[in-house]
Amino acid sequence: MKVVSLRCAPFRIPLRRPLATARGLIKQREGWLVELRDAEGRCGFGEAAPLPGFGFESLAELRRSLGEAAAPLCGAEIEGPADGRARIASAVANAPGARAALDCALHDLAARVRGTSLAAWLASGGALRDPVATSALVAASLPDAAADEARTKVAAGHRTLKLKVGGGRDLARVAAVRDAVGAEIALRVDANGVWSERDAPRALERLALHAPAFVEEPLASRDPAAWARLRAVSPVPIAADESAPDVASARALLDAGAADWIVLKPAAQGGLAAAWEIAALARAADAGVVVTSFLDTAIGRASALHLAAALPGRVADAGLATGALLASDLAELADAAAMPLPDAAGLGVVPDPACFTRDLESAA
Ligand SMILES: [Mg+2]
Repeated sequence: MKVVSLRCAPFRIPLRRPLATARGLIKQREGWLVELRDAEGRCGFGEAAPLPGFGFESLAELRRSLGEAAAPLCGAEIEGPADGRARIASAVANAPGARAALDCALHDLAARVRGTSLAAWLASGGALRDPVATSALVAASLPDAAADEARTKVAAGHRTLKLKVGGGRDLARVAAVRDAVGAEIALRVDANGVWSERDAPRALERLALHAPAFVEEPLASRDPAAWARLRAVSPVPIAADESAPDVASARALLDAGAADWIVLKPAAQGGLAAAWEIAALARAADAGVVVTSFLDTAIGRASALHLAAALPGRVADAGLATGALLASDLAELADAAAMPLPDAAGLGVVPDPACFTRDLESAA
């Protein structure tokens, strides 16, 4: 494929309601949308929108790295995503957000050129999971409201619910949700690194009463040895998210026997190829994977949906039904308990062309 242009457009999308995490409130998603166009007029898209905790570059550095990647891509005959990544390696060496956005756009374009879905491109002949079952986030902060929200999500077809914990009432919230939905529904708990190594075992014992499928990021520490010590005594399985921001850190955790599950966020881990590689390491270590959105727009969610559809092995319900958290979106991709792959080639979604012309203040 011959790439002829790389365009970037800023976006800023408020959340409908600020989302509470152990790292503070998330009020909006801000980043850059990327378009690679080939000589035939076909386009591949990607996005980058940094969040705290993943070692991202700043938005200004992100934009600069995207600009530096234009020269090695534009005018070049590119064999595929791996060739494209090699060409931009130095431009995005310290810019995981830019790397992920361009990797997604390269994959999207390659799949569109071949006339196949991105999932089929990734699976290269392997079976596809279609539709992809998704988990639902229970965001309400009070136990009764969380129980009501959980019932609503289960009625909509979700078989897995996720709760973020860290504050004083959280055990009561988890208990209320478990009571409301019964034993058949999987509960996923995300601590976002809130506990010390000393406090974590007791916290996990309390959570174990409500039988979570796993707890994400129980420790403030990212030391694989500390994770392995905790896993050895933990009554619940442990999942790595922010502690596995790239292939090397995921490998270190898995080599240490420190995680039962790895969360895959292509937007945060340097792209689809990196997430695919992490998944292969997890399979080899007998760990499962969970593909999860990065509170992405429809572009990033679609790329993660294709990844979840294509991965072989033990893959839990994907955390991709997060579009409704955003007040607006760059493209159309509806949340659902079972999300079908889009019919069109590549990502199967395209951003509203206005994204590339309107200014940032009106982008929301
Ligand atoms: Mg998490």
